[in-house]
Amino acid sequence: MTADPLHDLDEEQLAAVTAPRGPVCVLAGAGTGKTRTITRRIAHLVATGHVAPGQVLAVTFTARAAGELRTRLRALGAAGVQARTFHAAALRQLRYFWPQVVGDRQWQLLEHKFRAVGQAAVRARAGTDQDAVRDLATEIEWAKSSLITPAEYPAAVARLRRDTPGPAEQVAAVYAQYEELKNQAEMLDFDDLLLHTAAILEDHVGVAEEFRDRYRCFVVDEYQDVTALQQRVLDAWLGERDDLTVVGDANQTIYTFAGATPRHLLDFPRRFPEAVVVRLQRDYRSTPQVVAAANTLISAARGRVAGSRLRLEGQLPPGPDPDFTEHDDEPAEAAAVARRIRKLIADGTPAAEIAVLFRINAQSEAYEQALAEAGIPFQVRGGERFFQRPEIRRAVSVLRMAGGRAADDDLVGTVRALLAPVGLTDEPPAGASARTQWESLLALVGLAEELVAVREGLDLPGFVAELDARADAAHPPTVQGVTLASLHAAKGLEWDVVFLVGLVDGTLPIQHAEGDDDAIEEERRLLYVGITRARRVLALSWALSRSPGKGRQRRRSRFLHGLIPDHHPASRIAESRTGGSKPRCRVCGSPLLGAEAMKMRRCGDCPSDVDMELLDRLRSWRASTAKEQQVPAYVVFTDATL
Ligand code: ATP
Ligand code: MG
Repeated sequence: MTADPLHDLDEEQLAAVTAPRGPVCVLAGAGTGKTRTITRRIAHLVATGHVAPGQVLAVTFTARAAGELRTRLRALGAAGVQARTFHAAALRQLRYFWPQVVGDRQWQLLEHKFRAVGQAAVRARAGTDQDAVRDLATEIEWAKSSLITPAEYPAAVARLRRDTPGPAEQVAAVYAQYEELKNQAEMLDFDDLLLHTAAILEDHVGVAEEFRDRYRCFVVDEYQDVTALQQRVLDAWLGERDDLTVVGDANQTIYTFAGATPRHLLDFPRRFPEAVVVRLQRDYRSTPQVVAAANTLISAARGRVAGSRLRLEGQLPPGPDPDFTEHDDEPAEAAAVARRIRKLIADGTPAAEIAVLFRINAQSEAYEQALAEAGIPFQVRGGERFFQRPEIRRAVSVLRMAGGRAADDDLVGTVRALLAPVGLTDEPPAGASARTQWESLLALVGLAEELVAVREGLDLPGFVAELDARADAAHPPTVQGVTLASLHAAKGLEWDVVFLVGLVDGTLPIQHAEGDDDAIEEERRLLYVGITRARRVLALSWALSRSPGKGRQRRRSRFLHGLIPDHHPASRIAESRTGGSKPRCRVCGSPLLGAEAMKMRRCGDCPSDVDMELLDRLRSWRASTAKEQQVPAYVVFTDATL
């Protein structure tokens, strides 16, 4: 039975869902039902016969989000709607239109972008160490996404007063060399997929007519992160038409480093004056405590992008307060998180309802290891690359080769047997990376099980064909287990329990944002995205050094200052760990370093004009109130208590 697209919608959501075909814009905070609104709108338009499912193209930013859109749409009776990432949609269209327009000349997707940028850097005599090449690759991506050519680059960065990874002329030279190398090899990178798609639709009237005849209704989720290039593709799709629904939250703009800009979202009502514009404020995802933390963090936002100042209004019953934990070192932090997760699972929380989110992918490894050691199943996000993983490519080619021979009726058993030699042992192997590979192979078996349940008579060649189709659509299977993901990859998703880890200055905000106010604000928005992923339990933690025995090398993230309650749990944590014998800051209680700080009895982070008497009275009042009500004013976990 399919669900009614209009059930459980509030008045504003309903207005957006039932608006007539034409421009619609939903500007709203995290967890207010933007994604719900667009899926319902599509389903409603389909159910009322205003549009056929095949005429709708819905785009979003990650493969997982696109997969979830498809799942939600199917449940609402709107199967057959194309829900894809911009890149997957462009890839499909390019494959279809390329032969008509370009003929036999073939192209391949560039797989080793870093290598190509490295070669270009050598030719342009620029820096070629790993960091330099990474920065150049990011800069080229930014330029392409911003529709800036190599020749235009120096003037454009001067106009924008943009920090560049090296002299602008040299970056432009690397960019030009990169383009040339790629063209010579007849390769396209991800941005080229979009560029060529837009160019073909702009230059070939017949192709554009065929496309526009097929797709009539466009929907974009997470519109705050659209780049100039993606907007150009969208405009090419639309032509003169205006049947476009966009939803977004300027406070969740987290890809400006790659050319994204909330300008298109914020300008939408001006561009389409007749648009139905809806603002949503009620948060249906998170407890009031999580919502309060999100509001506190974002209310301190500054600068250009701080678009919507809407405060979220929590709708759910209260849950536990967010907790803050300071650890001596990273392995201790990871081990403590793993211990807590084990307890949560033992107490009945499904592993799939738990996520550990971090700023950079390199942080993942410590958690992969800690979870593997604790015997906890996990998946590492970035699932859109699932089909590019070496073990999956090996597995698919083994299955393809065996395809003709497999006569066995059991198509799950066959897959298992065939994958055993490529690493699918009965028991999970030791070691984090072996374990990750094993989890992905297991996910393939899980997918086979899923498909066999719904498609009678599915054989091995049929399964391989399905894998090819999914690889094409960048639609990886779901791996059940705790999710490990970067904050960027977590956008749009939600879990009951979220651990935000590694919250130290230098990691969040990231080191290279230092000194650039806009970049620091983007880091704040990343933390806002992280906090608003949690439905109920939100645990924030940090470690004072990378490895054991190194003392206090780092300080907790500056963004935590407004979030940790005045009565400051971190002071208690530090006391429980060190016995409380060291001199501490009068205001926040953190250990003091340096003669000046000792003299002032105040750390460099705390203001000097704090009324200590008032603060002490406030602290004891809050502590006694909390005791009376039998609820902790805050929850403190330490390495010792976990
Ligand atoms: P994000 O900004 O993180 O992408 P969003 O605005 O897209 O968030 P959704 O994911 O659509 O929000 O919704 C958040 C949660 O709230 C989901 O679990 C959704 O099912 C629920 N929800 C949304 N609207 C309602 C409603 N009217 N009644 C009950 N639950 C709702
Ligand atoms: Mg959403």
